[in-house]
Amino acid sequence: MTRKKIVAGNWKMNLLFTEAVALAESIKLANNNNCDVVIAPPFIYNHTLSTIANNNGFHMAAQNCSEHIKGAFTGEVSVAMLASIGTKYVIVGHSERRSLYGETNHSVCSKTKACLAHKITPIVCVGESLEERNSKIHFNIIKNQISEALFNLDKDEISKVVIAYEPVWAIGTGLTATPEQAQEIHAFIRNCIAEKYNLELANSIRILYGGSCNENNAQILFSCPDIDGGLIGGASLKTESFMKIIEAAEQV
Ligand code: PEP
Repeated sequence: MTRKKIVAGNWKMNLLFTEAVALAESIKLANNNNCDVVIAPPFIYNHTLSTIANNNGFHMAAQNCSEHIKGAFTGEVSVAMLASIGTKYVIVGHSERRSLYGETNHSVCSKTKACLAHKITPIVCVGESLEERNSKIHFNIIKNQISEALFNLDKDEISKVVIAYEPVWAIGTGLTATPEQAQEIHAFIRNCIAEKYNLELANSIRILYGGSCNENNAQILFSCPDIDGGLIGGASLKTESFMKIIEAAEQV
């Protein structure tokens, strides 16, 4: 089964407004672009950048969303609000949200469901710490993350989810999982989905790699059979790097 690649840029808490607009405007895709390109700017730029994204053939994502529908949740942004300004994807359960803001598999599950209810594609992040990898419990950790966050979705719901495998030790560190390490986990995730649901469904789900992915390693990572593109942090903040990563995804 061929799965369309995705290259998603997570801008995190970077760039002032004019810089963000300039970066979004610098993303020029070929007409026959054959991968989905997504940018996830800070919330307050989403409205403006949604228009730029729409006009230029890519998609706008949020870096987070509330698990609640509406109401007295000061500082939170609901999926309905995000949908109302053209948001197509939300990054859910990024490791920084988990480690710094106490997000759990349970809240990731609620946010994922909220996204799906509003026809927004959740990009659900999973990944082990270095300690967990060194203790050789990384497979258990990943299985637990996807089981608790995703396995009470029905087949139709999970078929709309994108998963991002982001080993915590590779995020922002310059350390990248080797293609073999990444492929091994991606295949493992797909296999868990096949066991829970079925093989056809598992083969249709896109699983992205994230963690110091850049223009030098993107092509070899994206060539792995179970890696369907990347969630890119630092390298998505520079036009040249991001464009080269998009080219790498288009070529494989
Ligand atoms: C990320 O934060 O999702 C990420 C992959 O960051 P970086 O590419 O900078 O490691």
